[in-house]
Amino acid sequence: MLDKKILDFIVCPKCKGELKLEDKFLVCYNCQLKYPIKNDIPILLIEEAQNLNENTKKEV
Ligand SMILES: [Zn+2]
Repeated sequence: MLDKKILDFIVCPKCKGELKLEDKFLVCYNCQLKYPIKNDIPILLIEEAQNLNENTKKEV
């Protein structure tokens, strides 16, 4: 599992705010976005982030 210590130096790429580790996501409550963690690597890309209010991924 992801080391929580890295949360000390990673921030939301959008607002540079604090991220919270929740399940397999890093969550920014400022932006209401969650960033996926794949193979223990946080994907801190705004285009990869999901809206907190969407529980399921949109089918395009
Ligand atoms: Zn943010």
